[in-house]
Amino acid sequence: MTEAITQTPVASEDVLSREQQKRQPLYAGRVEVYPRAVKGPIRRIKWAILGVLLALYYLAPWLRWDRGPDAPDQAFLIDMANRRAYFMWIEIWPQEVYYLAGLLLLGAFGLFMATSIAGRVWCGFTCPQTVWTDLYMWVERKIEGDRNARIKLDQQPWSGRKFRLRTTKHAVWLLIAFLTGGAWMMYYQDAPTLVSEFFVGQSSGTVYFFVGLFTFTTYLLAGWAREQVCTYMCPWPRFQSALLDDDSLVVTYQGWRGEPRGKHKRGESWEGRGHCIDDRLCVAVCPTGIDIRDGLQLECIGCGLCVDACNNVMDKVGLPRGLVKFDSEANQRAQARGEAPVHWTKRLIRPRTLIYIGIIALVAGIMLASLTTRATVDINVLHDRNPLFVRLSDGDIRNGFTIKILNMTREPRAYTLGLEGLENAAISVAGREDMAADGPIVLTAEADTIANYRVYVSVPRDTLASEAEPMAFLLTERDSGETARQESVFRGPER
Ligand code: SF4
Repeated sequence: MTEAITQTPVASEDVLSREQQKRQPLYAGRVEVYPRAVKGPIRRIKWAILGVLLALYYLAPWLRWDRGPDAPDQAFLIDMANRRAYFMWIEIWPQEVYYLAGLLLLGAFGLFMATSIAGRVWCGFTCPQTVWTDLYMWVERKIEGDRNARIKLDQQPWSGRKFRLRTTKHAVWLLIAFLTGGAWMMYYQDAPTLVSEFFVGQSSGTVYFFVGLFTFTTYLLAGWAREQVCTYMCPWPRFQSALLDDDSLVVTYQGWRGEPRGKHKRGESWEGRGHCIDDRLCVAVCPTGIDIRDGLQLECIGCGLCVDACNNVMDKVGLPRGLVKFDSEANQRAQARGEAPVHWTKRLIRPRTLIYIGIIALVAGIMLASLTTRATVDINVLHDRNPLFVRLSDGDIRNGFTIKILNMTREPRAYTLGLEGLENAAISVAGREDMAADGPIVLTAEADTIANYRVYVSVPRDTLASEAEPMAFLLTERDSGETARQESVFRGPER
């Protein structure tokens, strides 16, 4: 292959370009980004969202929720040891993991819809990577100064001042990372207990490991990796292009208005030139270091800070705002042709947004209906595998089952166990020989527990029509009458 290339006659500049390419490293080095501070309405919105999200994250584990005695009183808790998840008044058992699937579906389609309407609004405003990076940059700015001061500091040789500033910055970053890792673990353990045990060395090794892990990853991703996470690690930018269309709101440079760009002196005419004065402030404030004037790019997280930066410049030079703004590609093209733009709210209802809304409404409706009609009792039945059946001395056929009764209430409960679909069947429970042979089968389950029973079902051989007879166990709560049903199969010899 190499020979074939070298034997092919090429123009001298092509050869030069190949030689140059040979010297290029396979991977481009990282270009350090020094985002400059910016003021404006979008920055204020971002601060507000950041404050709310961080407050929710750090404070939610401290919210208490009275569930009665013997139950955790933390509003948001994933209790791995007891296999429960608590979200305020909702208690999820492992058997109800489909709620998690529902939540994931809602999250995914919510994200698809938000992207189709407002582009990478999730990335730019609410993604944890963006929120924590923003916080870390704020700390950095407070300690080391704004863009120019940081560039200068980076270029300076090590000195007492540089050492002091860097040490302070990393110490604060590590503290935030530790608080973040600690807060994460509070969603898995009772928060006040975890704090009191953690600092006296009484927490488990798992707790120390995960707090350490999340401290390290927060420090690494928000302090060091920053825009590299969005550009290279996150898969979301890769598939967002499939979710955007011409009517999605994205951060756009109005090239039709801005070009030809160039420096502008106060008092000079704007005739025959564009409104972009090429001061590169939109680039200087960008947390990913790109130039939005090059068009929509994978690296653009849609944070809108360049919109604030450009609007501030437009105010100063006395031109209308919106040279860089949230707009749709369709509007851009229309305005370039001299047509009037269509307000984005008029293009909200489109086939894809309708589909997303429909799916979200359906999943949310199913979840809501299932939550409101949720049973407090459930039954799981496991048929013995070996042997599938035994022949009793009187000729009857007996099957063995393990039955689990889930009592999802805070009180002990008694249930009656019955059968459906089997004629002349008799039920007996291992260890409960005290029950009268012709009386009801009464089983109990303590509050908030799973009770296990070994249950035997016997039927006369002659009543079996086939080697696998469908049947069902019916569990009825004795006070409320609430029932749970589980289908199974009664096995017998081949006929
Ligand atoms: S180009 Fe603008 S919107 Fe995109 S990431 Fe940079 S500052 Fe944010």
